[in-house]
Amino acid sequence: MPKTTWIRNADWIIAWDAASARHAYVRGGDLVFSGDRITFVGKGYSGAADETLDGRNRLVIPGLVDLHSHPSTEPFYRGIREEHGVPQMYMSGLYERSLAFSPELEARAIGAEVAYCEMLLSGITTVADLSANYPGWMELAAKSGLRVFLAPGYASARWHLEGEWRLEYKWDEAAGRARFREALKLIDEAVRHPSGRLSGMVSPAQIDTSTPELLRESHEAARERKLPFTTHCAQSVNEFNEMVTRHGKTPIQWAIEIGILGPSTTLAHAIFIDEHSWLHWPSRDDLKLLAASGANVAHCPSPFARYGQALEDFGRYRRAGVNLGLGTDVAPHNLIEEMRLAIILARVEAEDIGAASAAALFHAATVGGATALGRDDIGRLAAGMKADIVLVDLESPFMMPARDPLRSLVYTAADRAVRDVYVDGSKVVSEGRVLTLDHAKALAALAEAQRRMEASVERRDFRKRSAEAIAPLSLPLMP
Ligand SMILES: [Zn+2]
Repeated sequence: MPKTTWIRNADWIIAWDAASARHAYVRGGDLVFSGDRITFVGKGYSGAADETLDGRNRLVIPGLVDLHSHPSTEPFYRGIREEHGVPQMYMSGLYERSLAFSPELEARAIGAEVAYCEMLLSGITTVADLSANYPGWMELAAKSGLRVFLAPGYASARWHLEGEWRLEYKWDEAAGRARFREALKLIDEAVRHPSGRLSGMVSPAQIDTSTPELLRESHEAARERKLPFTTHCAQSVNEFNEMVTRHGKTPIQWAIEIGILGPSTTLAHAIFIDEHSWLHWPSRDDLKLLAASGANVAHCPSPFARYGQALEDFGRYRRAGVNLGLGTDVAPHNLIEEMRLAIILARVEAEDIGAASAAALFHAATVGGATALGRDDIGRLAAGMKADIVLVDLESPFMMPARDPLRSLVYTAADRAVRDVYVDGSKVVSEGRVLTLDHAKALAALAEAQRRMEASVERRDFRKRSAEAIAPLSLPLMP
């Protein structure tokens, strides 16, 4: 018999109201889970339990779903990326940074361990992990206790910079195809993993670096496996212009033409659609086409906002019928802070306080992501769902007064109030500490590995500059 745990008389629970297909508050309720499944959510549980937890001063929420992340590289960019951008590339630092700053493949598990810890500490229980296949990935994902969709990246071309920040492409279709096969092998292993928490996502890296054949075959491989599919699309002005030059179509229209959009497809980040104000493009078709295709969007506000860019806007996409999930594309891997930023940016972009709300972003960060991943058993607290559960401390000073605890969490407390996290009914965070991984040790190793990455920048950068020249410290050193 699996162990049954009863969270008794919780002050607040964000439960799933299946009849109206939305989250709703339960005040003074019980949540019971047995093994990896929730068996009861509501008031007045009267059954048995092996373990009873006092739910007073607790808000119980479903584990968050991180629909887009790069855990194995992003932690290496802390202190480097936040203020780096290339004005000549419409502020995007993507190309210059990713080419010049590349952590060693052998060190990437260190970054991933740090990122996974940040995720767990902010209540993420499921993550789509877009990484290059590095040594030890599967083992680390299993050890973390997270529910991980491994999304090994591959492409037919590599970016390359020349002259005055001209974006070029170095094509090697055979190499892309070989890495596609390797990716499928890893994905198939993940699905079979005995933990039952690992899965896969077929992920040709970008719309501009993959041939239409590779994109189509990838989409088909995902369909055959009943697995989700993702690629970066409409993520920069340069990419938009490149696709228009190559095909006479916007990136979204090109994706539709080659047949890779549908309910199992997630586009990261679908910001530069035809109507975006930075493009001054004459048509206004992309959003309608995107919605009609049923494709999902992984919305990751932080990296773009740091460049001065934003999706225009969350509310508009949502009203058009696009399913939005939320991702942590950069460090910190804090989905609650992404919710807050997404709300604020949507309102600023739309000049409308109704463009986004805590409820809408919480839906995106749970059910929106789950839907995109093809899962109807996560992101919700209801009987029959997976026991992916987060306990939030209502006595945290940042939650008080907890008149509306979701608002306290999103607008003020974020990860500071996250106390305990369960995935598949197993405790992975206790009293704000990760039980499965060694956060402190990984952080110490990360600092060393970051220094080694910085030392290789001069060799990699197209202008042979140092790390310090590309991304100087925020303040000068006192002489
Ligand atoms: Zn990304």
